[in-house]
Amino acid sequence: MLNVATSFSEHAAYGDMLRNCVSCGSERIRYWRQKQYHYTRQQSRQVFHIYRCDRCGSGFLNQPPHPHWLQAIYRYSGQALTQPISLQAVLDRETAFPNCSVDAARISKVADQLNISANPQALDIGSGFGFYTQALRRQGYQTLSINPGEYENQVFKAMNGDEPLPIMFEQYQTDQRFGVVVMSQVLEHVLQPDATVKKIAGLLSEGGVFACAVPNYKSFLVKLLGTRDNACLWVPEHVNYFTEKGLRALLSNNGLTVVKVEQITRIPSNALSKRLGLRGWPATGVDALLKPLQKPFAGLMNALGWGIYLNVYAVKV
Ligand SMILES: [Zn+2]
Repeated sequence: MLNVATSFSEHAAYGDMLRNCVSCGSERIRYWRQKQYHYTRQQSRQVFHIYRCDRCGSGFLNQPPHPHWLQAIYRYSGQALTQPISLQAVLDRETAFPNCSVDAARISKVADQLNISANPQALDIGSGFGFYTQALRRQGYQTLSINPGEYENQVFKAMNGDEPLPIMFEQYQTDQRFGVVVMSQVLEHVLQPDATVKKIAGLLSEGGVFACAVPNYKSFLVKLLGTRDNACLWVPEHVNYFTEKGLRALLSNNGLTVVKVEQITRIPSNALSKRLGLRGWPATGVDALLKPLQKPFAGLMNALGWGIYLNVYAVKV
């Protein structure tokens, strides 16, 4: 097996210090908290500093990891996989806890409804296991997918029959234009989100839609767990931590008009018992007690703006 952890640590280095907010561009940024990182138990720990913007509330690693370090990580996986995974294993996960497939179906459908460009080409950036490409095709789109992770691309091929371009989006060049661009759980990984969104805006037809899903920095998980949260503050893979305000600024600064924002909260029914380290009947009991509360709890968090994920749709006008 490939020694993935070694290849990560070999490339471990920091990038340049940032002076502006990665979301809104404000200079009013300051140190918030630090978070330690270690990929495997054997590896030495490294410390990252998280900065926060006073204007839009978004956060980001400062200094960020060096681009070479991130590229070394994404060569195999964008989802912390340290070895290959089969399509069946991915589908079994979805059956146990429907997640990616549900998001992909909803986001593709909404994006299609909002796309008034009449362009049937869709671009799936960071296509992962392939659920979004599959869903876009079901909406009638011709798709182009980009994903650097070798392990994910093997699953993608088993699911969809073809293969994504195995590159980082920064390397992608085309004259083609798209009616829909989907980027799910990717923008939080990108070192220069402003340049990325600018490039996406340039790839959209007039009236085309950019659908973007990111973790919410204002989520109840971050409020509750602080830097122990790993949904949003997953270091160093996640370098940006967006608030709705920050994401809106980032999109509108690049010529995109936000037309719809949704919050998504989905918690496995065994999340609490697992966190409490329960097993056997106490775990089953806690899970059964919490199950009827899941939906109203998620609804309340979303209504407060504390949902786990943000889904934002923006149109190029
Ligand atoms: Zn900001």
